[in-house]
Formats: sequence, structure tokens, C-alpha cells
Amino acid sequence: MISAVKDLPKTQSNSSVAKHQVLTILGSTGSIGTSTLDVVARHPDLFTVFALTGARRVDLMFEQCVRFKPTYALMVEEGAAKRLAELVNTTDLKTLVIGGSKALDELASHPSVDTVMAAIVGAAGLSSCLAAARAGKRLLLANKEALVVGGDLFLSQVQSGGAKLLPIDSEHSAIFQSLPQDASTWSECVEKIILTASGGPFRNRAPDTLHLVTPGEACRHPNWVMGQKISVDSATMMNKCLEVIEAHYLFGLPPSKIEVVIHPQSIVHSMVEYKDTSVVAQLGTPDMRVPIAYGLGWPNRIESGAQTLRFESTPPMTFEDFDSNEHRLRFPGLLLAWQVLKARPGTPGVLNAANEVAVASFLAGKIGFTQIHEVNLRTLDLYEPQAPHTLDDLLELDSCARSAAEQVIGSLS
Ligand code: NAD
Ligand code: MG
Repeated sequence: MISAVKDLPKTQSNSSVAKHQVLTILGSTGSIGTSTLDVVARHPDLFTVFALTGARRVDLMFEQCVRFKPTYALMVEEGAAKRLAELVNTTDLKTLVIGGSKALDELASHPSVDTVMAAIVGAAGLSSCLAAARAGKRLLLANKEALVVGGDLFLSQVQSGGAKLLPIDSEHSAIFQSLPQDASTWSECVEKIILTASGGPFRNRAPDTLHLVTPGEACRHPNWVMGQKISVDSATMMNKCLEVIEAHYLFGLPPSKIEVVIHPQSIVHSMVEYKDTSVVAQLGTPDMRVPIAYGLGWPNRIESGAQTLRFESTPPMTFEDFDSNEHRLRFPGLLLAWQVLKARPGTPGVLNAANEVAVASFLAGKIGFTQIHEVNLRTLDLYEPQAPHTLDDLLELDSCARSAAEQVIGSLS
């Protein structure tokens, strides 16, 4: 299979001077979006913002417009776009406000844009990611669900469009930083990649009490402040499941060469083990501005704003086997990664859709925490996808899997 990051040119230049980039930030009002703008603000000489997009947080988007003066600001919700336009009209800003999601693809593929930060949550970001890929952009991928759903089609569009796909997920950025520059050597020299997982808020919780977990508890991650969906995914470890699938596509390694180890301190962000048993890891404080700055600056390094790692005051680093009986009971969703990668093409997309619907239902108080896994399993049983070949096939698959998941949820209550 093709690997996404393998097909990067080795380096853009040997110069230590980073090139100026014009940016579209998809999902600028979210956790990754705001961290991205924090890094961007530290380098006014390096970045210009062309477009910002969000769903409904008008006040935050207005603040971002005042500060970064984008040419375009898009709000998916029409009412929010209208309120934003009224606010913009009270200033001398030239920002053009767009309502609805139709123009996302255009903002991601616009000829004026060099780099796209894909930080929309969920499969809602798929189409704009593919548009950026086809247009040959430098694509900074936080939106893991888009790659899980898009799979080989996503990779082929990156390749045919001549795009550069750079991972933003902290584990995948760590792996990318720990691999040799010459990607043609990977299959020969890499024994396996080891994704670290914090274990989330329920690492020590008795498995038979997990059905009592509330949305508030599930969203309280011990090490990271993130959007609600990924916080719940971290609590079920479905986030790690999606990350195993993401790693498979990004690095072109078979699922059998991808392992997970629990590392509660989130300091080692992931590791690569080589044939000679050497292990190369990337370490740092848990702050998403580090992988974001790496993606924005690549192949150079730019300041991120994160705290330096001070080894003398760092808590002892510990590692636990994921594959213990207790953890299998706590986190049954993680094992689905290897299962769906073995199943027919499109199955990872079905799992992703089911999980998005189940997490939204859990957050809305409609189903319990442990029912998220039940919905995922039963949706995989209920809906067998046809192999997707086009974006329309993927969108159809996503929509059918969502209907199947809703049906499962209906049958639970
Ligand atoms: P978030 O919920 O904080 O932000 C999501 C953004 O997407 C917001 O700007 C929101 O307005 C926008 N959005 C929501 N629904 C949309 C829709 N239907 N159409 C268009 N835009 C929409 O989420 P986040 O935590 O920033 O995560 C974003 C992505 O990055 C996710 O895929 C997540 O898995 C990934 N990621 C996040 C972190 C993290 O630390 N937050 C780490 C690694 C990867
Ligand atoms: Mg991650």
C-alpha cells in the first residue's frame, strides 16, 4: 500500500530560514484551532491567515478575525454567520463572512493558500481534507477521523495532488520525528511502532463501575485539555483505536507492526523500535502546540510556546501493558482497530461513524458510557459496507452507518 508521509520530498530545502506560508485553519474555534493560532501569533513574519472556519462560536471567531484579519471567515451555522457579519460590520475589517459548509472545500483548496490546518472534528472534515489534498496543499492533519474514513482514497488523493501530509496528532508527530528521513528504508529497518496512551481518566477505575460514568467525568482528562468528542474517545480509548488506524495509513505499516503501551504521564509521545532493538522516542511536555509548531515549521523548528521538559522535576515515567485482562475489560474498543483493518474496505469508516453517533448520544445523556462500545459493535454487525471508491461512496457509507447506529441506539432504550 502507499504511505502518506512516505511520499514527502525529503526536505524542502536545507536552509534554516522558514518560508512564509498563507494558511487556512479549518476548525479555528476548537482546541487545536486555538492552539494553532497561538503558535501562529508568535511568528507574524512566517504566517498570514487567509481563512478561518468554525461552526457556532461567534464571539471567539470575531476575536480571531480582529486579531488575525483573515480574508474569509466561515461559520457553518447560518445564524452564527449572520451574527458574525453584523459584528464585522461594526469594524473596519475587510473580512468576508460566509455561512454554511459548502465553501469549506474552496477555502481548503484556494490558490492563495499554501498550508491547511485540518482541525474540524469528525467525518465532517473529510471533504475539505480531500479538497486540500487534491489541490496539493501542505496539509496538517489533526482531524484523524477524516483519514480513518478516507483510508486509501485519502492517500491516493494526497499522492495524485502532490500534497504534503504532516501529522499533528502528538503520537504520530512523535513517530514522524523518530523515523529516518529516507522513507524508503522504513519497511526494512523498522520492527514496530509503539503508540503511547495515557489511559485517560479511567485507567484505574473498576471495570464493573464504568456504566455509571457521566459525561462530565469522561471529559475530565488528566493530562490534556481537548474538545469533548476526543475527550470521550480518550476515556473509552477509542481515540487510541482511531490512532492505530491513522498510524497504519500514515506510515504504511501493517497493523501487526503497531503496538500500544500505556504511559500515564504523557511525556513519551510515541516510539519507533528498529530491527537492531534500538528504540527512538520523542519526548516533551503534554502541549499540542509542540506537534502543531513542528507541522507548521517543518522541515525547520520554530518556537511553540510550550514549557521545557525539566527531567529533574518530571514525575517517574511508567509503562503498563495494555494487553492485561483488566485493561481489556476497561477498554474493549481499542482492539477493534486491528479487527476493522483486517475486515473489508470501508469498515474503519463504519466504526468511526458509529462511534461519532454513540459519543454524541452519550454526551446528550441518551446512552450510558459502556453502551458506546455496544453501539459500535452492533453497528459493525448490522452494516457491511461496499468498498468505497469515491468521495460520494465514502459519504454514503458514513451516512448509512450513522443510520444503522441510530437504529441500534433506538433498540437500546
Ligand atoms: P473541538 O471540538 O475543540 O473543535 C472542533 C472544531 O471543528 C471547532 O472549530 C468547531 O467549530 C468545528 N466543527 C465542529 N463541527 C463541525 C462541522 N460539522 N463542520 C465544520 N466544522 C465543525 O475539537 P478538537 O479537540 O480541536 O479536535 C479537532 C480534531 O483534532 C479532532 O479530529 C481530534 O481528534 C483531533 N485532535 C485533537 C487533539 C486535541 O488535543 N484537542 C489532539 C490530537 C488530535
Ligand atoms: Mg493523540
